[in-house]
Amino acid sequence: MSDCLFCGIVEGRVKGDIVYRDESVVAFRDIRPQAPVHILIVPRKHVATILDLEATDAGVVGEIFLLIAKLAREQGVAESGFRVVVNSGADAGQSVFHVHFHLLGGRPFRWPPG
Ligand code: 5GP
Ligand code: ZN
Repeated sequence: MSDCLFCGIVEGRVKGDIVYRDESVVAFRDIRPQAPVHILIVPRKHVATILDLEATDAGVVGEIFLLIAKLAREQGVAESGFRVVVNSGADAGQSVFHVHFHLLGGRPFRWPPG
């Protein structure tokens, strides 16, 4: 999608601090990090929200969770702990409508979240 910011990063039209890419997934650092480790993991395919995922996307969602575990280890937060967040819709504050998984770590997080 040409007007989607994260499609722009996936396709290389928009600069991103990319930490991982393969044929189905791209991971890059959040431009406004909320923790020492703050990485966004996205499917290459444009999917706006969790609600727009289709049965054929199940594989890439599984790959994303496996990648999150790999990145958590590589970034040194696997043992200390980390949080995975997917905001969906207005109440959750979703601001970019290309589904993305936040990997946050390197500091303690509160529960319940704000
Ligand atoms: P959301 O609020 O939709 O869950 O998360 C969107 C995230 O994208 C925010 O954490 C925001 O800081 C990040 N973001 C917004 N614009 C850019 C950008 O141009 N580049 C990168 N790397 N992250 C961005
Ligand atoms: Zn997109």
